[in-house]
Amino acid sequence: MSAEQRLSDHERALYSRQIRLPGVGESGQLRLREAKVLLLGAGGLGSPVGLYLAAAGVGLIGIADPDKVEISNLHRQIVHGFDTLGLPKTISAAEALGEINPGLKVVLHPEGFTIDNAAELAARYDIVVDGTDNFATRFLAADSCVLGNRPLVHGSVLREAGQVGVFLPGKGCYRCLYPVMPDAGAVPTCAEAGVFGATCGVIGSWMASEVIAVLLGKRAASRLQVVDVAAGVSKLVALAADPACPCCGAAPTIRSLEKAAYAPTACQTQSPMSETPLEVTVEEAQRLLSGPNPPLLIDVREADEFALCRIEGARLIPMNSVPTRLAEIPQDVPVLVQCHHGGRSMKVTQFLRAKGYPRVSNVKGGIEAWSLKIDPKVPRY
Ligand SMILES: [Zn+2]
Repeated sequence: MSAEQRLSDHERALYSRQIRLPGVGESGQLRLREAKVLLLGAGGLGSPVGLYLAAAGVGLIGIADPDKVEISNLHRQIVHGFDTLGLPKTISAAEALGEINPGLKVVLHPEGFTIDNAAELAARYDIVVDGTDNFATRFLAADSCVLGNRPLVHGSVLREAGQVGVFLPGKGCYRCLYPVMPDAGAVPTCAEAGVFGATCGVIGSWMASEVIAVLLGKRAASRLQVVDVAAGVSKLVALAADPACPCCGAAPTIRSLEKAAYAPTACQTQSPMSETPLEVTVEEAQRLLSGPNPPLLIDVREADEFALCRIEGARLIPMNSVPTRLAEIPQDVPVLVQCHHGGRSMKVTQFLRAKGYPRVSNVKGGIEAWSLKIDPKVPRY
């Protein structure tokens, strides 16, 4: 083993508490030292991600951010301080990371992560970490990682909630969850809705943990963690590659990075939990449907399934035809989406929310649960 393949005594002392962890050891620490991580955004999420990765001994961190440090950043973007106000965030962040780990190599990308450099940057690094706050960059990062065969760790935060996604090549991507980039104005921004700095710390620290886990080979599947700090709840959503995904599916429509597809929308953060619940039980669905202002119930199964059984009043729009039949779904009424077991309808619910429908909920368990719990006269199949 050459000196380059061994840890120095200094490194052994520095990382001693980490090296003793299962799955790390000296070989894991060397893997971290060899790793090249691209950090998109040196903001509320990028701050804790960068600090923890630097402290953990990641060898090289690239920082892509085109912005300068502003006073309204400081309550949450803890790599920056009053002494770096007005400086490019890349420089300010590099100083802070260098202080925590002088052995770290930092590469600055003050032009940010753009359509012009995305493919090249994704190829130069082992993993991409997305802590940006706008959909254009978020989808660009997601697609670059699929096309460049790179893992992506994604985070977003709003108010007191957020989410952390891990997307491994071939195991399901960001577009498997959110097929279409939302329109401008579909969701509130952090500037409009507000955000707690400590919530950024929760989500960003979780992202850093996931980056380290991926680098150490400890993640085998893509997954999404939805965290609501206010409610004290976090939920793990398992992900599988969707054969119909426009980017990683069997017949992808996104085969290269096209400028028009990533036209910037305003600084927006996807709200992981809007006031309308993402999912309702069949009991709740029945209560709403029999109430004074019943929601529109959309059945997204296929026509032959609909012919077998249906919930009275449901309108059939099979999942694959939803994108071309949006005109039939009004935006100003509450909508329930239902299928056989709740899987397809959850995808459509997420899709409609991404398209700017704020009051859409999935019916948990689908018509199967309806038949078991509400109306046994509806045949099961
Ligand atoms: Zn996908």
